[in-house]
Amino acid sequence: MSVVRNVLVIGGGFSGSCAAIELRKAGIDVDLVEIDPGWRSYGAGITLNGATLRALGEVGVLPEIVAEGGCSDGVEIYTADGHKLTELPTSRLAGPDVPGGGGIMRPVLAKILSEATRRSGTQVRLGCQATSVDQRDEQVQVAFSDAARASYDLVVAADGARSGMREKLFPTAPKPVYTGQGVWRAVIPRPREVQKAAFFMAPRLKAGVVPVSHTSMYLFITEDRPTNAHVREDELLPQLRALLDQFTAPIPLYVRSVLNADSHIVFRPLESLLLPAPWYQGRVVLIGDAAHASTPHLAAGAGMGIEDSVVLAQELKNASSLEQALASFQRRRWPRCRLVVENSVRLGEIEQTGGSKEEHANIMRESMIAMAAPF
Ligand SMILES: Cc1cc2nc3c(=O)[nH]c(=O)nc-3n(C[C@H](O)[C@H](O)[C@H](O)COP(=O)(O)OP(=O)(O)OC[C@H]3O[C@@H](n4cnc5c(N)ncnc54)[C@H](O)[C@@H]3O)c2cc1C
Repeated sequence: MSVVRNVLVIGGGFSGSCAAIELRKAGIDVDLVEIDPGWRSYGAGITLNGATLRALGEVGVLPEIVAEGGCSDGVEIYTADGHKLTELPTSRLAGPDVPGGGGIMRPVLAKILSEATRRSGTQVRLGCQATSVDQRDEQVQVAFSDAARASYDLVVAADGARSGMREKLFPTAPKPVYTGQGVWRAVIPRPREVQKAAFFMAPRLKAGVVPVSHTSMYLFITEDRPTNAHVREDELLPQLRALLDQFTAPIPLYVRSVLNADSHIVFRPLESLLLPAPWYQGRVVLIGDAAHASTPHLAAGAGMGIEDSVVLAQELKNASSLEQALASFQRRRWPRCRLVVENSVRLGEIEQTGGSKEEHANIMRESMIAMAAPF
């Protein structure tokens, strides 16, 4: 028996979808509201590290991810001109038969999770948001934009890095901060020689390709930029090509040759946020990017939100009171999420200042070991 009977999840991103699925498994009635009427996911591919695959295994969607994504073991590291420096091992955290890492198109992952959410018995309302959230009488009274009203034992806010619920609950909380780097991404056909993730290191630029299916891969380039200014649509292709000019290894050269005016190119300035604990107030709790949004240096942001969902449902099921469940959730999640946010920021700082490669490698290693530990 859980300490709550019914829950409202605000936001149907990766964190909110997984929360709904996990809460339903704990026997809790779940309503989920998602502001986007099309429940779409934007952007290119996403890297799923071993810990993220393990968390998705807990949620129960691993077979679909392995079938539709591009999973493999290890990450190859090259110089910009194609000299192989090393291959980093990736532990098989999701089980002996599941590779240690991989990638998938964001819309594909979102579809897998939205279908699993609906199958779980969650009542989903799209194009809908909470217009007032009022905590009283051991309940949360919620009014919605579709004129509905309902009361809940708990509200889970998974409404992302620009969370409106965070603003409401913690008006003085820090906001996402620009970290001085931006990431370029594009999806391209995958040549046969790309069997696993491969990174290419130029003096002040990092590029990589990650398989996201049997036939495609995504390119990323992390670039230092003094401001978080928007890049005009007509500038995306020439600027990305100019960055690729710094790489002469065969794979980046191939990528440059296939990019064209129809390529779907995304540029995103990087931001970071760590909400100080506690991430809850009364009967409202924040999870995922709403509480901890990290830059992609450890490719772990989505994984941390998915882990939040699993841990929250476990605590609600096992604790003897809601207060105890939320305190225990916070205790378990704080060290891991803080490590991912802070170490990701530090990796970006080292890259921008041309700092110690040894410190960079040590932080990567320490982070991989910490993320591999049970959560
Ligand atoms: C450039 C970049 C690259 C990244 N690469 C990786 C990677 O390779 N691997 C990785 O693990 N992580 C990566 N991340 C991090 C990852 O994308 C995020 O951590 C993850 O998507 C957060 O999921 P979320 O569900 O918490 O939030 P979001 O994805 O932001 O979802 C929030 C949802 O809430 C909805 N919403 C918002 N407001 C309301 C409202 N008022 N009412 C109802 N619904 C609302 C939104 O429409 C959205 O669907 C990357 C991030 C960036 C910026």
